[in-house]
Amino acid sequence: MFRSFLVKYGEIGVKGKNRYIFEDALMKQIKYALKGIDGEFAVTKDKGGRIFVEVKSSEYDYNAVVDALSHVFGIIAFCPVVHVTDRDLENLKKEAVEYVRNTYPDRHFTFKINTRRAHKSYPHTSMEVDAALGEAVLEAFPETKVDVHNPQVDIRVEIRDVIHIYSKELKGVGGMPLGTNGKAMLLLSGGIDSPVAGYMTAKRGVIIDAVYFHAPPYTSERAKQKVVDLAREISKYTGPVYLHIVNFTDIQLAIYEKCPHDELTIIMRRYMMRIAEYLAGKNDCLGLITGESIGQVASQTLQSLYVTDAAVKNMPVYRPLIGMDKQEIVDISEKIGTYETSILPYEDCCTIFVAKHPVTKPKREIIERSEQNLKDVIDELFQRAIDTEELIIVGK
Ligand code: ATP
Ligand code: MG
Repeated sequence: MFRSFLVKYGEIGVKGKNRYIFEDALMKQIKYALKGIDGEFAVTKDKGGRIFVEVKSSEYDYNAVVDALSHVFGIIAFCPVVHVTDRDLENLKKEAVEYVRNTYPDRHFTFKINTRRAHKSYPHTSMEVDAALGEAVLEAFPETKVDVHNPQVDIRVEIRDVIHIYSKELKGVGGMPLGTNGKAMLLLSGGIDSPVAGYMTAKRGVIIDAVYFHAPPYTSERAKQKVVDLAREISKYTGPVYLHIVNFTDIQLAIYEKCPHDELTIIMRRYMMRIAEYLAGKNDCLGLITGESIGQVASQTLQSLYVTDAAVKNMPVYRPLIGMDKQEIVDISEKIGTYETSILPYEDCCTIFVAKHPVTKPKREIIERSEQNLKDVIDELFQRAIDTEELIIVGK
């Protein structure tokens, strides 16, 4: 019964002259989200800057459209709209009653009819339409009441070539349209945290590339597949993800062989950051993103973060989860649908090479000195890791 959706967007409305850039980005993302859904759709913008998803086919999958729109950053809310083509007032009264009957099974509410005429040529004023429709609804459903000041249900009627009726507002995810804030490289592991970190950054309009370090045969194909699956989950929000898969085995073995074992994790993490920074630079990314949060594990004490960060030369490292408790992160991962995949029990490369007692307060000079043990081999290993990267594009 709904023939279009009115898209409400927030922050992008305040961008002055650049507003159209944001609106265009939003429309592009809406089109991407609707791809593959049963039905034919057009995404349009009217003179007032209002964005609509118009249904062009006679049939379509309503639930899939609702699901798609609730994954698009920048949308605060969206309203399913009924179209009335016969604009005669008597017919409109019937349609308003039908609308209320179909939309609200329980009609014990107060309401208001709120008419706007985009076409001033319509032969009734908006107040006349308000009164006529209000009366019709009251008559059909005596359990309703009118409250013009603080109605529970605000029924909007817009008189255009086709009359629009809507009242229900479905919640969007908010944030800013993807593509309005550059691109960054997410270090994506198979854990709970990094997919959430990617989601949080993308929510602010940042396009996400991702890099995963695997260490075959110490980490399995299934562990890699899990990361691909996580990338696919977040791509429902972030659009297609360019996932770089880097073979980290030889670097890890070299560290294992030549460096003190209680420093393995921190040194390994520093090399991950270096490779990620290199790939980020090559792919027009303006920063790195990790899922770290202060104190969560030994490698995320403030000292460890300091030493990890020092390996990155020319790029900010964004850590959107820095101040969050684990449970808060878990809550988001459940909400965005990555949790179930994240908790699958496949090893990641960090768990295999972890020392029994990793340093929790690494000193930068000491770590840098230990890394000197790698100086004869690391350049070649680094180059090979980069040369053999595998790129998988995940998403529709
Ligand atoms: P996560 O749940 O994201 O795996 P974690 O709590 O397991 O986080 P660590 O394993 O210490 O934490 O990793 C910290 C961050 O480093 C991760 O959030 C991720 O951004 C990055 N990272 C760790 N391992 C890898 C990997 N194998 N490939 C890519 N990034 C990684
Ligand atoms: Mg991890």
